[in-house]
Amino acid sequence: MVLHWILNPGLVVNELILGQRVPKISLEDKTSDKPRIERGLIPCPHCETLHDGRTWSTENGTAFKNWFGLYCNNCNNIIPCIINVWSFLILAITFPFWGWFRKRLKNNWLKNQPQRFKNIDVEKLPNPFDKKTWVKTGLSWGFFMFIIMTFLFPYFDGTEITLKKALLSLIIWTIGGLFFGYIMKLFFNAAIKKQQ
Ligand SMILES: [Zn+2]
Repeated sequence: MVLHWILNPGLVVNELILGQRVPKISLEDKTSDKPRIERGLIPCPHCETLHDGRTWSTENGTAFKNWFGLYCNNCNNIIPCIINVWSFLILAITFPFWGWFRKRLKNNWLKNQPQRFKNIDVEKLPNPFDKKTWVKTGLSWGFFMFIIMTFLFPYFDGTEITLKKALLSLIIWTIGGLFFGYIMKLFFNAAIKKQQ
């Protein structure tokens, strides 16, 4: 998953525009018999708090806008994140345009974080891959990819968008979305097999 995050050029949108980030270190509680999604832990290297992996989630409104990294609401520092190589290249090339404002942007962003993380309660979160919700999660992802790959990318590289191509793409991403949702369901709901 980390390798995918680093290499997939499509994730530039998630990282640079939406501000979705992936921490450098994620841990998994191997002593709990809960499904994997409830066992994920993200350590803060500054204060050594083990955050629940679901702290940064769409339900909490904290999955996005994390442009400078994942905010630690215990010590007000930033948990280091990995960066997609394409995002890195874009940031490097455009550095002369935004480099001047980096400090100010970061300070403003940092100032807004405490209130975003004030009322986080991970225990109340629904499992996005529970029972039948994986279908919805998968299809939403498929639809997002459909829009990006069928309209956004061709728009920028000047390729013609035809009805035939769009329909084909819709079919591919519907199936792809369901496939993705199902794999995620298997992955995140996996519980550790108890030793006999
Ligand atoms: Zn911390």
